[in-house]
Amino acid sequence: MRFDLHVHSVHSGDSDNGVEELLDACVRKGLAGVAIMDHNTLQGYRQALSMQREGIMLIPGVEVSSAQGHILAYNVEEEVPPGLEVGETVDLIKAQGGIAVAAHPYRLWSGLGEKVVREHHFDAIEVHNGRSTRRHNQMASALAEEMGLPFTAGSDSHEMRTVGSAYFESARECHSVEDVIREVLSGEGSTGGRHRSRAETMGYGVKCITEWFGRGFRRM
Ligand SMILES: [Zn+2]
Ligand SMILES: [Zn+2]
Repeated sequence: MRFDLHVHSVHSGDSDNGVEELLDACVRKGLAGVAIMDHNTLQGYRQALSMQREGIMLIPGVEVSSAQGHILAYNVEEEVPPGLEVGETVDLIKAQGGIAVAAHPYRLWSGLGEKVVREHHFDAIEVHNGRSTRRHNQMASALAEEMGLPFTAGSDSHEMRTVGSAYFESARECHSVEDVIREVLSGEGSTGGRHRSRAETMGYGVKCITEWFGRGFRRM
């Protein structure tokens, strides 16, 4: 069963993905489930709950902007405030029964970087992000292996066409969110899909800088 464990919706502030269209895209791509990981808000997930699609499991989650970089919080029902130190953010996620995952650790600006990942107690590392380069994903994969941590994967889609383009594939059947979390933590699943291309990397740099100016030099 394939799960895109990292997509964004309009509630992220930097995506055009309408929640309803997002769920339809998941059906079309044959996904078993999706985690709408909007920046610092569970609104995307909450809206999706009201418009469920048969066969698409909704995994609650949010992408938290900690002081040092992005952290994926799965299985949480409450937002974690942005801007906190990594350790505190991880603790708050775990305190509500969630799992804390280091998002795209090698990405410039928004990734935590290797040192920070090593110094904290993450439950898993995102090793295949559809918006990261193959090299950065390989480095994340090597880090997870070396640290003996399980892994997650997702497209990090901000636009409809890339929904499901990178995914986590469970080794066993999953019938509930708990099953998916257990599969992730087992480390027995696999990942698949695309990586960022060279041309996209160029475009992405320009987009980031333009948006950064637009936000008055604030990071996402
Ligand atoms: Zn991110
Ligand atoms: Zn993201």
